[in-house]
Amino acid sequence: MSLPHAVLPGSFTKQIATVGPACKRPETLLEMIRQGVDVFRLNMAHGTIASHEATLADIHRASDEAGRPVGVLVDLSGPKIRLGTLLDDPTPCRHGESFEFVPGDTAQRPDQLVTNYAPLVEELSVGDRVMLADGTVSMVVLDKSGGSVRCRVEDEGSIRSRQGINLPGVQLSVPSITDADEEHAIWAAQSGVDFVGLSFVRGTQELRELKNLLRGHGSSAMVIAKIEKKEALERLEDIVRAADAVMVARGDLGVEIDVAEIAVVQKQIIETCQQLGRPVIVATQMLDSMHHSQRPTRAEATDVANAILDGADACMLSGETAIGDYPLDAVKMMNRIMVATERMSHRHLPAAPQLATSHGVHPITSAVVYGAAQIADQLSSNLIVIATRSGATALVKAKQRDFIPTVGVSSSPEALRRMCLFWGTYPLAGAPLDDPPALRRFVSEWGLRNGLLTQGDTVVSITGTGIVHRAHNSVVVYEVEAR
Ligand code: PEP
Repeated sequence: MSLPHAVLPGSFTKQIATVGPACKRPETLLEMIRQGVDVFRLNMAHGTIASHEATLADIHRASDEAGRPVGVLVDLSGPKIRLGTLLDDPTPCRHGESFEFVPGDTAQRPDQLVTNYAPLVEELSVGDRVMLADGTVSMVVLDKSGGSVRCRVEDEGSIRSRQGINLPGVQLSVPSITDADEEHAIWAAQSGVDFVGLSFVRGTQELRELKNLLRGHGSSAMVIAKIEKKEALERLEDIVRAADAVMVARGDLGVEIDVAEIAVVQKQIIETCQQLGRPVIVATQMLDSMHHSQRPTRAEATDVANAILDGADACMLSGETAIGDYPLDAVKMMNRIMVATERMSHRHLPAAPQLATSHGVHPITSAVVYGAAQIADQLSSNLIVIATRSGATALVKAKQRDFIPTVGVSSSPEALRRMCLFWGTYPLAGAPLDDPPALRRFVSEWGLRNGLLTQGDTVVSITGTGIVHRAHNSVVVYEVEAR
């Protein structure tokens, strides 16, 4: 498969940026879209519904101003166990020191620890490991008595109020979808967001429950399973099947399993998603040093590139954009790495597109998408156009990973925003779908304006004629005429 002469605006790989105080000003959001952000993530672990609602309105306005669809991902905290309010903030934890988990949400002494998960004291056992501050501080449970649990610091560091607690291997009775998650999911559904992520997925049941909850409130949002528990890795295939998309949530995953295993586990998750036709996002610490630096380390730049080479559909920025000093530089840098990696790596890809499929997609659609890419390759076409109701056909094309730029057109704003997560797919709004000659002119003019097409180029278009229910069964090839 040859690399096309021209590429889509932006990169094939999609970019997700977490919104926070550092970037939530409307003009920053607009600039982030212009610099390559495809999807904004609202992290429900922070802020209030009212503050997220205001951000959502600003994102929609920025998207309109930028003239392109942008997706929104609401990331539910799931059963994340957190510290409550510490007496000293931050609290240093030195090797060998002892701390005590006690009931309540506010510590009364500097060596007391409190948590938002009341049964924790009950469910911990002597010998269990307690990881704090993203795994930088570890403690071991020494004894339990009188409703409290005493721990000793093994790996020292500093902890702050409301930081996460990880308990690798400890079976907890905490529900998979908490009351707060339910409230946030209903808000997400009613607000028309495009993706809802669930943290700490342990099985398929919670994904089905979340989907039912969203559908029950009129939402067709894609459900993203965040893989960050050992239990999820043990049921990976089933979870990927039950989800609409997947996130390799390396922050917590790197605490729940040995950090030394992360690279290979990331490849395994991506490969499973590729086989099952689900978009997959690689997340956390991708450009971590850019919290306080205008340039990433070599290792970070390599991490983003390697995620793309592994087959990630999207890479995500977290604190870099939410609370970092250089949110725009981080977005620009990630985009640069994506574009450079894609330009330089196409040689390593298979010579022909792979037949991809996805749950619920008609086999005729998969075969037609595959054939269309072969035609496009044969004719050195610079563009495939997919008319799609839900975006599902565009997802099949994205999963072929064939480097033929693709434009998705749809009468559904939801489908256009969903395509913001699909690799190599540019969602093009405003296309006149009911008038084929007008649609051809619309796409050609857009391609000419953006330097993607020149007069005489061939464009391959994929549609459904309606002859086969729910299948895309038609490929039309045309040449771009002069403006
Ligand atoms: C992660 O753990 O990598 C992650 C993305 O989740 P969160 O930021 O919610 O901890």
